[in-house]
Amino acid sequence: MTEPPTRERPTRERPTREPLTRLPDGTIKQVNPFNDTKVWTLPGRSSRPLEHVVPVPLAVDPDDADRICAFCPARKLETTPEVARLVRSGDGWRELRGVLAEEVDDTTAEFRLIPNLFEILTYDYWHLTHGYVPTPESRAHREAYLATAAGRSHIARLATIRMRGRGAVGVDPEPLSEADLHREAVGLFAGNHQVIVARRHFVEDATLDTQLAGSGTLTPDEHDAYTGLAIRAMRDLYHDNPAARYVSVFQNWLRPGGASFDHLHKQVVAIDELGVQIERESARLHTEPDLYERWGPTYAAEQGLVIARTPTAVAFVGIGHRFPSLEAHSLVVDRCPWELTHDEVRDFSDVLHVCHAATGVGVPSNEEWHHKPPSLDLPMPLRAVLKWRVSTLAGFEGGTKIYVNTLDPWAVRDHARGRLRGLTERRQVSSRITIA
Ligand SMILES: [Zn+2]
Repeated sequence: MTEPPTRERPTRERPTREPLTRLPDGTIKQVNPFNDTKVWTLPGRSSRPLEHVVPVPLAVDPDDADRICAFCPARKLETTPEVARLVRSGDGWRELRGVLAEEVDDTTAEFRLIPNLFEILTYDYWHLTHGYVPTPESRAHREAYLATAAGRSHIARLATIRMRGRGAVGVDPEPLSEADLHREAVGLFAGNHQVIVARRHFVEDATLDTQLAGSGTLTPDEHDAYTGLAIRAMRDLYHDNPAARYVSVFQNWLRPGGASFDHLHKQVVAIDELGVQIERESARLHTEPDLYERWGPTYAAEQGLVIARTPTAVAFVGIGHRFPSLEAHSLVVDRCPWELTHDEVRDFSDVLHVCHAATGVGVPSNEEWHHKPPSLDLPMPLRAVLKWRVSTLAGFEGGTKIYVNTLDPWAVRDHARGRLRGLTERRQVSSRITIA
């Protein structure tokens, strides 16, 4: 009697599939080299405009330009107490920590690091599941903050919002009980989900409300400061919370990208697992240590999809993403982001800045970072994928797990290169950049 045929394949290295295939009718099939996502670009569906919903511009009232949304500089006490802020200092930057409610307008915060008022994983989650407790710095800041009248009333307001948000009982009687105030304050100061908010809602001297300040309208120096603050926030979440296995960094831009406000901000979120993608990729890295280099910058160069370079980072068109994408990769693979030198961070920041500038502020997007967490000793570079949220997933995608993109990688490249030519002439991207 013969054995029934088995479906199991013998153990061997996964065959590498060609990430890009062009079919005779012009269809482009993409397979993401890192996570196997399948994407098709079909001829005849690729000529839709990029900024598909262009809002009608309205005039900006200069008196209101600083108070458009809760992230705006004139409304600082609507957000949580700052962990840190970056202010200008000569030609550089200074980081201030422990600012009190009375001091929020004493300096001009170009970027503010604040806990998210509504976290993905709450303080209670970390405390009750993992025994997480606030750091001495967080405790000292909370006590100092609550010791002033403005600080107390700020925290009482936020505590009420949070308790109402989760339908807690006993919120309506004013004032809030001492026990409620102090309990809520602990979580408000010790959040493991943080937000970095840029100062401007609109670009300087904007006259129309479509002139938003996005990542691409920051100067290269400002973008570097913003990137550096995100990296330090990531480092501190790992350091302060031993149960944090991974810290996710992402930026949602405009409402179709999932942003609550059209005001530039990034989120930094600790989670207690590595996440599905990094687990899958780390298994492959054992047999393909050059995975990211080979199928990132090198493959992009072979396909003519590189946009820009710095000495240690490359920007190129991403392959096999649900949405047309640009990617910024550091070429340094042996260190965590906070172990990079300043020049290496700057190189990464500059190419990511170019990706945004080449995209344009009117395009909704998600910027998603990937990096080597401290628990993994594998060659993983700091990299970011910038996805253009210009199409809506529909039933075809849901039923087949094959995604239809409206722009093939070379069309994305041409759009990016076209915009970059003008930006380099106007010196709006870093002088360290070489445009491909
Ligand atoms: Zn705003």
